[in-house]
Amino acid sequence: MNRLKTTLFRAGLNAMYASGTHRILAPIVGGRGVIFTMHHVRPNPAPGFAPNSILQIAPEFLEAVVTRIRWAGLDIVSLDEAHDRLMDDTDDRRFAVLTFDDGYRDNLEIAYPILKRLDAPFCVYVATGLPDGTADLWWLALEAVIRNHAQISCCLGDEEVVLAAETDADKNAAYERVYWWMRDCDQDLQRSFIRDLCNRYGIDLVELCATQSMTWDEIKALSADPLVTIGAHTIGHFALAKLDAERARTEMDEGAGIIADRIGTRPTHFSYPYGDAGSAGPREFEIARRLDFKTAVTTRPGMLFRAHSNHLTSLPRVSLNGDYQGLKYLDLFLTGAPFALYNGFRKVSA
Ligand SMILES: [Zn+2]
Repeated sequence: MNRLKTTLFRAGLNAMYASGTHRILAPIVGGRGVIFTMHHVRPNPAPGFAPNSILQIAPEFLEAVVTRIRWAGLDIVSLDEAHDRLMDDTDDRRFAVLTFDDGYRDNLEIAYPILKRLDAPFCVYVATGLPDGTADLWWLALEAVIRNHAQISCCLGDEEVVLAAETDADKNAAYERVYWWMRDCDQDLQRSFIRDLCNRYGIDLVELCATQSMTWDEIKALSADPLVTIGAHTIGHFALAKLDAERARTEMDEGAGIIADRIGTRPTHFSYPYGDAGSAGPREFEIARRLDFKTAVTTRPGMLFRAHSNHLTSLPRVSLNGDYQGLKYLDLFLTGAPFALYNGFRKVSA
């Protein structure tokens, strides 16, 4: 979701909260449960240019979320338990699952102690290229390039552009322009583009990966806790739908295989990188099914309903991101009403 859509969605949420519509809709659209998507947990960034702040929530907010979910009557469960409850038509206990994508070190250092203290299970989906130092955290690298320079010149496809990056507004505009071009473009071009940009503007992609990602030792130590599920998230964090079928399958299969080699257990749960419709579609859902993943999650927003037991490799999630760090948004999300409206009341069946 880009900035404009985010702003409109948030305005809609505020209007819904003020009107109380969500409370009327809740019994119909609340569903069986919800899987939350998170990335980083760390203190909020300073005001100003921080385009990736949507990918992080503050530790206090994470703690408040856990308490609030339980106060609202939902159990916080592992993905295995969520799977079992979805498969059991007689089990109508509502549940929430906490998931973190990519495998960032703050998940271990900041989120884990909070969730351990609160006895809340969670899943970390690891893209193996991060601990192996071979994946490119291109969205963070792009932010670093733009933060450190007042002007950026680059080649977006056939177009040579010179982007002003003097003020925060300039930097935000430059980031949006390049980010969405990179999201849409060929995946190998995307990576050669960021490597070239980082070379020219003095950002070390390997160093960035090493500072942000957990090491294999850390992932293995974390995985030893029964509260923790380690899920698969491919090797190179590519938009799978933009790769050919064999390469997409290899990314999904070998990503899980590498985790098995490193921690001793093959993941049975999978998260599609980016997870939107342009990054994962029916072809990927079928590959995940054939690879015997018990569940695979998208980032398409929505609650879990009984019918999802037939769609276990295309489950929706709800993003808990930096733009929605208010318990009123969480309360709204737990009713399911925002997603019923967002999805036009499709796929709703209690
Ligand atoms: Zn990811």
